[in-house]
Amino acid sequence: MRILLVEDEEDLADIIKKGLEEEGYSVDVARDGEEGLYMAENLPADIVVLDIMLPVMDGLSLLSEVRKKGIATPVLLLTARDTLSDKIKGLDTGADDYITKPFEFTELLARIRSLLRRGTVAKEATIRIGDLEIHTASHAVKRGGGTIKLSAREYALLEYLAYNKNSVVSRMEITEHIYDETFDKDSNIVDVYMNYLRNKVDRGFEKKLLHTVRGVGYMLKGPEE
Ligand code: CA
Repeated sequence: MRILLVEDEEDLADIIKKGLEEEGYSVDVARDGEEGLYMAENLPADIVVLDIMLPVMDGLSLLSEVRKKGIATPVLLLTARDTLSDKIKGLDTGADDYITKPFEFTELLARIRSLLRRGTVAKEATIRIGDLEIHTASHAVKRGGGTIKLSAREYALLEYLAYNKNSVVSRMEITEHIYDETFDKDSNIVDVYMNYLRNKVDRGFEKKLLHTVRGVGYMLKGPEE
């Protein structure tokens, strides 16, 4: 999943970016409101983490512009003060949730996961596909009772396929949602990671869950579907 972080405080932005990347998210950072607006309109983010107090254009104006343009990406606001009026204004402008600074990183993660689950096939914290279980909070993956150990990148790919289960996702969609702007889109890294995933998820099982749809992309599908 790909996150756009709009935050002008460099130290905080770096910490959040690093922490999210360790969890397998890819993160693009904008340092002011105008850059944030441009990136929100032009990059395929799954969620926007948006600071309110920003140079050039404040977060609420950015949010208002984004919503006017019909962009429905979930937005999590970072508010500096714990004041009710900021929160109400934020929610009225089209934010989906907010978190007050200073916050615990674990709480930020929980709110991001909760927003990502909305509007997807997976309303539960655990996604089940056949005998495969993906626990989105702990990133634990199990199949047939056994635990599958995945790297952060492998997990990110599996989770993206799981959120889109039973639908074909193209390589382009995968690269757009799993990797950030600095990623070389011409490389065959998606195929490489798909091979890793197959070895870990499907190898040794009679029913394969990961499918290649020739010329189109990949699909994670339960055996009964
Ligand atoms: Ca700020």
